Amino acid sequence: MTITLSSILVIDDEPDNFDVIETFLGNHNYQLHYASGGQEAIDSLEVFQPHVILLDVMMPGMDGIEVCRRIKAMSKWEAVPIIMVTALTTKADLARCITAGADDFISKPVNSLELNARVRSMLRIYHQHCQLATFNATLEATVQQRTAQLQTMIYQDALTNLPSRNFFLQKIAEVLQTGESAFAVVYLDCDRFKLVNGSFGHAIGNKLLRAIADRLQQHLRPNDLLARMGEDEFGFLLYEIASSIDLEAFIHKILRSFDRSFVVADFEIFMTACIGIAIGNGVYQHPEETLQDADTAMYKAKLRGKGCYQIFDRQMHIAMLNRLNLENDLQRALAQQEFVTYYQPIVNLQTEKISGFEALVRWHHPERGTISPQEFIPCMEETGLIIAVGMVVLKQACQQLHLWQQRGWTELNMSVNLSVRQFSSPTLLADIDRILTDTAINPAYLKLEITESAIMDNAELAISLTEELRSRQIQISIDDFGTGYSSLGYLHQFSVDNLKIDRSFVNQIQAENRSYQVVNTIIALSDRLELAVIAEGIETTEQMQWLQQLGCEFGQGYLFSKPLAAPEIERLFLSK
Ligand code: C2E
Ligand code: MG
Ligand code: MG
Repeated sequence: MTITLSSILVIDDEPDNFDVIETFLGNHNYQLHYASGGQEAIDSLEVFQPHVILLDVMMPGMDGIEVCRRIKAMSKWEAVPIIMVTALTTKADLARCITAGADDFISKPVNSLELNARVRSMLRIYHQHCQLATFNATLEATVQQRTAQLQTMIYQDALTNLPSRNFFLQKIAEVLQTGESAFAVVYLDCDRFKLVNGSFGHAIGNKLLRAIADRLQQHLRPNDLLARMGEDEFGFLLYEIASSIDLEAFIHKILRSFDRSFVVADFEIFMTACIGIAIGNGVYQHPEETLQDADTAMYKAKLRGKGCYQIFDRQMHIAMLNRLNLENDLQRALAQQEFVTYYQPIVNLQTEKISGFEALVRWHHPERGTISPQEFIPCMEETGLIIAVGMVVLKQACQQLHLWQQRGWTELNMSVNLSVRQFSSPTLLADIDRILTDTAINPAYLKLEITESAIMDNAELAISLTEELRSRQIQISIDDFGTGYSSLGYLHQFSVDNLKIDRSFVNQIQAENRSYQVVNTIIALSDRLELAVIAEGIETTEQMQWLQQLGCEFGQGYLFSKPLAAPEIERLFLSK
């Protein structure tokens, strides 16, 4: 360990005075330096690096007061304590010293005890000052380092090292400030990325995101910006868009870049993405607006399917607003109990007697009157409101069934639609159980209708759910059968009881035409699988006769009755 001796600079025109001081301080671990004049002292500071200065006041040429002022004016030395050594002791003299920056005084002739005491105390102050300065410097460095880290965290995405959403927004703000409108904000969202996380785990999901980021980066034009916006979302800021042809060429290139699979940890993963684009228009004020519009367009693209893109237009904005209004309105309608269940008879085509009803929701809007489900069910499915409304309908339908059965219609069935969105409700089975208990109906008379597409989209969930329902004796019907998917092959995997032939086949049925063949095939298949068949949308006697001829058991349609409120059903059918 090296001990640094405290360095003391004595400035005095009389060398004898230095000798006295040296003698008095001699026993201590001080390193003493001597300068015989002011300028010499100032010039020697770098060499001596003093920790304390003892400065004579009365010197020829530059006096001690002036030397003191000059040293204190130098930022490097201002903190070094200066003790004035002086025979002048009037208040005025001392005041001059203090004004010049002196830290302490010793009167001449110098007394050994006083000298030692003052030097020690000044050294202590100086060392404390040095410690504090070091501490401050470290603190400042740490703060700077942390600030830099925070900046990186805010402006850089940790997973992909791409710029972050914040950075992206800031750059858009900069473009908007210039008044430039030839730019585009491109929002990219991977399709069904959750599936990757779900089936391969998050670690692979993260690797895939990095691989996607790398690939997207390869298509980045010089000067443009690519950022990670969120989980599986990326954003491009394209600065110079010469024409929409340029833009669309770029978009196609990006979408095509997903044609090749991504190889991640030995897995080959195919991914697609949808893209929404907002183009600078001179109207945008805030960066968030551009993102919002690109996001709206992206959402529109998603509705069309995987790997699509959409450029935002005003019309979409209006549609979006309508949509938001509808959402709010539906929330209110639920609270105000504006949803009412209508019933449409299902008829045995051989006996032409009513075998049951399908419960269909209606919205009694205070201003717009009765609204049909096509207008609001899709919105309720997206927002999840269908879960609550579906239960309202189920409850009303079960209560109604109970009432009608009590009035003597004992063999009546009730069919209720179950939306795909309701599958994912963790309380679905418990909710159904509660309604069954509350309404005291026999579950064997309840049929739940699930659309074919809902089943195909969620095969595993659908299988387990239908099994749970059937274990409660509830019957399962496949609704809108024959639309969309060619699903004849998978039917045997599901425990279902009824098939409802979609009305698009029924209303086109003619001798030996395609619809006739399809219906014929469905009925033949159902016979073999022991499923009951219900034909939907029968509007004419002719259609009914074709179906009877094909051996279709049940039918439903305007020919028999439109869906009606319960009192009308009672008036028209129950009295017979
Ligand atoms: P869906 O389950 O296939 O119901 C049959 C639809 O066909 C009903 O339309 C019914 O009014 C209509 N329909 C019946 N016979 C005929 C006919 O002869 N000709 C024509 N052109 N149409 C006929 P609605 O009531 O407008 O319901 C439409 C869809 O909305 C339903 O199709 C169902 O998917 C859904 N939906 C209705 N109520 C509910 C509900 O409470 N919950 C759920 N999740 N979905 C419901
Ligand atoms: Mg139905
Ligand atoms: Mg249907």
